[in-house]
Amino acid sequence: MLTMKELQKRIIELKKEKDVCILAHAYQTHDILEIADFVGDSYGLSEQAAKAPQQTILMCGVRFMAETVKILSPEKKVLLSHSDAGCPMAEQLSVDELKKLKEKHPSACVVAYINTTAALKCECDICVTSASALDIVKNLPQKEILFIPDCNLGAWVKEQVPEKTFYFIDGGCPVHTAISEEDVHRARKAHPDALLLVHPECKNEVSRLSDYAGSTTGILSYVEKSDAKEFIIGTENSIVQHLKFSYPEKQFYPLSKDCICHDMRLTTLVDVYRAVSGTGGEEITLPEETIKNARKSIDAMLK
Ligand code: SF4
Repeated sequence: MLTMKELQKRIIELKKEKDVCILAHAYQTHDILEIADFVGDSYGLSEQAAKAPQQTILMCGVRFMAETVKILSPEKKVLLSHSDAGCPMAEQLSVDELKKLKEKHPSACVVAYINTTAALKCECDICVTSASALDIVKNLPQKEILFIPDCNLGAWVKEQVPEKTFYFIDGGCPVHTAISEEDVHRARKAHPDALLLVHPECKNEVSRLSDYAGSTTGILSYVEKSDAKEFIIGTENSIVQHLKFSYPEKQFYPLSKDCICHDMRLTTLVDVYRAVSGTGGEEITLPEETIKNARKSIDAMLK
């Protein structure tokens, strides 16, 4: 049986030999983060992939993330680490359902969280990330916003942009939505000196009770800049683990022990090894038209 270290060593050798760039979403486990070329949020990783010299990109994350990499780097070979790793939120709305919603709200700007399928990105006006959603929506000329698919991130934006009218679907990330106000009260009582940092994919009543609500990158940089010694983390629990490795002298507590994304957990170090060695992973292909149209909504975000 190989040790973790031996397997990691093989992957590092293979990725050099086969010219593969490994991207690891921050929700992956620590052993995968250690052998990745880049670690981060979904959009940040796609940007890194586009700049990387390697012609093969392996996305350790979920399907919509690999699709976003393909949209930004259509000439590269893009692999998803595990075929079954999807994002329930990204697939909550079908293209036909979105078309019907657009007919119902013809004056609304369709704002899609980056956590959407490539097909949905083709049908929206602009993409946003959790870090950029607030600024982008504030600055849009339209007064009506159809925000898909995350109603929780949408409600968090709405609260700070009261001058606009928002329409949502009944969706959201099942992992973050499961965190309750009771979890906040329980964690605050158990750790009264800790600051509460949450992702805006949590329900609005949870985000409202936090000391800081922001993207994964935002949470990591908040901890980096803070003098505080204890933090309650309201996002996927892998972040608690990564923060403990980064700041072993500080204390980190999960807001909910159940905040685990099982799709993100599907990828193991062995899957990474198989994908890099050419015996596993799934190559992501998208029709040219999909790449072109989905790219428009991402370009709109960048502008
Ligand atoms: S944590 Fe939520 S939004 Fe992120 S991949 Fe999992 S289900 Fe999707």
